[in-house]
Amino acid sequence: MTRVQTILPSAQDVPSNISVPRFLLDDYRHPTRPERLPETPCLIDDATGDKVFMEELRRRTQCLASAMNDKWNLEEGDIVAIMSSNHINFPPCVWATHRLGCIVSTLSPNLSVGELVHHLTIARPSLLFVHSECFLIALQAAAQLLLPTTRIVLLDGSRSFLMDTQLQLRHECFDSLIEQGSLLPPVKEKPFQEGEAKTRIAFLAPSSGTTGVPKAVAISHYNVISIVIQAAIFNRIGENSMGWGARRFRTGDICCGFLPLYHIYGLVYNLHFMLYAGMSLVLAPKFHFESFLQSIERYRMTHLTIVPPQAVLLCKHPAVKKYSLASVRYCIVAAAPLSASLTEGLLRALPNVVHLGQGYGMTETCGTVSMFPLSQNVGTLGSGGQLLPGTSAKVVKENGTIAQTGDIGELYVKGGQVALGYYGDEKATQDAFVDGWLKTGDQVFFKENGDIFIVERIKELIKVKGLQVAPAELEGHLLMHPGIADAAVIGVPDEYAGELPMAFIVLQPPLATLIEQDPNFALELRSSIFKHVSDAKSKHKWLSGGILFTDAIPRNASGKILRRILRETRKHALVSP
Ligand code: AMP
Repeated sequence: MTRVQTILPSAQDVPSNISVPRFLLDDYRHPTRPERLPETPCLIDDATGDKVFMEELRRRTQCLASAMNDKWNLEEGDIVAIMSSNHINFPPCVWATHRLGCIVSTLSPNLSVGELVHHLTIARPSLLFVHSECFLIALQAAAQLLLPTTRIVLLDGSRSFLMDTQLQLRHECFDSLIEQGSLLPPVKEKPFQEGEAKTRIAFLAPSSGTTGVPKAVAISHYNVISIVIQAAIFNRIGENSMGWGARRFRTGDICCGFLPLYHIYGLVYNLHFMLYAGMSLVLAPKFHFESFLQSIERYRMTHLTIVPPQAVLLCKHPAVKKYSLASVRYCIVAAAPLSASLTEGLLRALPNVVHLGQGYGMTETCGTVSMFPLSQNVGTLGSGGQLLPGTSAKVVKENGTIAQTGDIGELYVKGGQVALGYYGDEKATQDAFVDGWLKTGDQVFFKENGDIFIVERIKELIKVKGLQVAPAELEGHLLMHPGIADAAVIGVPDEYAGELPMAFIVLQPPLATLIEQDPNFALELRSSIFKHVSDAKSKHKWLSGGILFTDAIPRNASGKILRRILRETRKHALVSP
């Protein structure tokens, strides 16, 4: 059966003729949008406590857009990449890019040179904003791609130019651009035609999809506007009968901003949705548990948006007792499954929490498919919530037939939040976006009341602390190790990280015999393989789940790795003496 959550009348008009900054910064009136209190900042810098109010956010966005236009003469559809940890300069870089009709590509600040080259090869950006912490990586990648260094801008720079002592280069930085832009006539955003927001790309967000190596999901302006309105309606369904006390998001509320802005969850739900809801976002560059607790107490945070590993710490870490978490009213956990026992632990750790539950979604759905509804103060244990308004879902069984309620199958979704496809990758787009439906690669079932349960990930994706690891990327890299003849990577369960990558390795023939004769050699080889990955890949992709030598990688007739068999093999390997 197909499930449809119809859009309520008040949101029938998800506008398709405006851009994201028009929607968010220019006071676009919508029935779901509360009036922002003038004394409520939009952004707060976690480390310094500096506040940025709406007026200043608009000004910085405007000045930056004018300077970018003046200096680089960007054209509509050009791509501007942002490689940075969370920083209060990040949002103006996003919206200034949009003001110029350009596309934002978000990149993790933890990428290695090789990983960055991969992403830049897909997007081919005209300009790259980088945080100083990843500046050298960016320089090396830019050199490989012949991107002029004059096109690399320091996002967190406060001096007018940074002299690179080794390379004797001058680099533009955020503050100097704002200064220059303030002296220029304001650049005017070109208005969209009716329907244009549906085809114009706002973001390229990294995801490996259901198979293969990391790709760039093309997310339209309409997708972002739609998901914000969908979430706004969803979180108010039934509110009138419950009164003010039940309201989830109130202007003046304060949300933690530890989720990385380069990932869809932080970018859309934290930044765009929380600002739309009239709230403040406390932006922090890195997650450190005790600082997180301190910030909750210091800023009297009302809203926590977290991933399961952070839930584990809240439930188990002794430092929790040292801080007051009494201000927290709302807590959502998403990006990976949350067990019933962790939900119960969170209820104990957050004494005044009123709304607690899971959200489920993916980059390809602009972050969200379902969330725990207002009718459930605490979401049904183990459930990924209920479909957002305007979302249709069908569950397809292995034999291709549509599953009935309660039956397990692969989830397909449709809705305003479903992205356009994979940028520059027609084949991957056609495989995942079928007749207007997105194949999620997740096995689920629905209960009669609409609760969705995510049973298993059937796509080739490992999630470590909520971050993606594509097995194909690691397998391709492992094959470049001189001692490896074949390789397969699976995710193995881990209490804290959720999953960890583990490799099955088939060695080149002489080595396979040698490791049997000499255990020390086997150890050395393991560390050489571990290093081969850790030297080239971001930390969450390291083979922390282990390395197992094997005779052959099981494959089906068409060469597809049979990962289920590998998971079984691992279980037996663990119990065997
Ligand atoms: P990403 O695109 O990085 O957000 O990853 C999306 C994938 O994360 C989904 O397709 C699911 O496999 C997984 N995921 C996200 N939220 C949940 C959840 N609440 N429960 C289980 N898996 C989830």
